[in-house]
Amino acid sequence: MKFSPLVEKLINDLQIMPGIGPKSAQRIAFYLLDHNREGAMRLGDTLNETMKNVSCCPVCRSYSDGNVCEICSDVKRQQSGIICVVESPADVLAIEQTGEYNGTYFVLHGHLSPIDGIGPAELGLDELATLLDGGNYREIILATNPTVEGDTTAHYIAHMAARRNVVATRIARGIPVGGELESIDGSTIMRSLAGRSPL
Ligand SMILES: [Zn+2]
Repeated sequence: MKFSPLVEKLINDLQIMPGIGPKSAQRIAFYLLDHNREGAMRLGDTLNETMKNVSCCPVCRSYSDGNVCEICSDVKRQQSGIICVVESPADVLAIEQTGEYNGTYFVLHGHLSPIDGIGPAELGLDELATLLDGGNYREIILATNPTVEGDTTAHYIAHMAARRNVVATRIARGIPVGGELESIDGSTIMRSLAGRSPL
């Protein structure tokens, strides 16, 4: 059965969100109509404003309002000589929340995936090369995800770094803190054995 075309459109449009199917979209639409029209209108405005105005930092490609972001503008971080390559802006947040990293970042917005037409250009690797060519970095940390694609991307960038005499390091992988050995998969255990360090 059909409600008003507008309600139908809302239910359809809500399904652009990841993880939201027809049922959830319907529940959200009815909830907003019944209980929170004001919040929904505010959300509409915020979505509009954000989508129109947020772009990427011209240096690190993380989200910014079009200007050089706060992290890239930080002189201390610029002078650290360390740049950390991640797949997504969410990874920047995750690392920032540790409070332990004082270098800069470079966000790929994905990983190399020739099948999907994602090559070096799509990941901004020309811009990264220009950054490395500037001679301000002594180390590049490759913090792409520990997946086949993440590894491939890390290796590709490591070659770029080697050609420019920048040391490339890869984040360690292994047993999560608080994890139990018996519940960890074999390949992770293997890698943590290979990457063991003296106590
Ligand atoms: Zn930036």
